[in-house]
Amino acid sequence: MTSLLQPVLDRIDAAARAAGRPGEVRLLAVSKTQPAAAIRALHELGQRAFGENYVQEALAKQRELAALGVAADAIEWHLIGPLQSNKAREAAQHFHWVQSLDRDKLVDALSRHRAAAAMPLNVLIQVNVDGEASKSGCAPDAVDALARRVAAAPGLRLRGLMAIPEPSPDPAHRRAAFDRMRALFDALRTEHEGVDTLSMGMSDDFEPAIAHGATMVRIGTALFGARRVSAGTGGPG
Ligand SMILES: *Cc1c(COP(=O)(O)O)cnc(C)c1O
Repeated sequence: MTSLLQPVLDRIDAAARAAGRPGEVRLLAVSKTQPAAAIRALHELGQRAFGENYVQEALAKQRELAALGVAADAIEWHLIGPLQSNKAREAAQHFHWVQSLDRDKLVDALSRHRAAAAMPLNVLIQVNVDGEASKSGCAPDAVDALARRVAAAPGLRLRGLMAIPEPSPDPAHRRAAFDRMRALFDALRTEHEGVDTLSMGMSDDFEPAIAHGATMVRIGTALFGARRVSAGTGGPG
């Protein structure tokens, strides 16, 4: 099977150069619904960061990968899906990054469950940048207080912001959302040392996201092809 990885890396590289930030944009491979073997194949090509939406699905793949000879720590695991409080313990123990932190309660739960001996858990605050009623993410004006709480929490390391702008046929609408995120990110950086990650952009819009300041893009279908439909394997969580 020819891998789609290199063409995607080339496009990221070209967009980062065009934005005057060569080498400064990381790829997160979004492997939800993909089998462990597909993760191993990309890992063998050098991809290290993988994103999953559901805690249980990620844990199952970590076990399968271990059986395939890929240790859990050979991969940097990112949780990018909405996190329920009752899954916070497992998230804190089995991921390196949580990108979907959006409320105080999760700060406390993740902090409490991150082992003192482990490296701090990297945290991105998810922002509901278009104010969509159905979406997770905190309101833009709640970022400051939440960021201060993350920065003060033992076991957590504030790294930046994540957003999923509303899908829109109007490119200007999306660009405006990216620009709002960038302004929030720039403000956050002046307040907190170590903030270096603005996670936005997916298969359909990662190039404009990079043009507007993304430092990490989260890509699924452009890397793996269309997602498999998971036939009732567990549901959210
Ligand atoms: C599925 C998903 C992606 C990747 O989407 P594609 O369109 O397949 O690239 C990125 N971010 C989040 C939060 C997702 O749930």
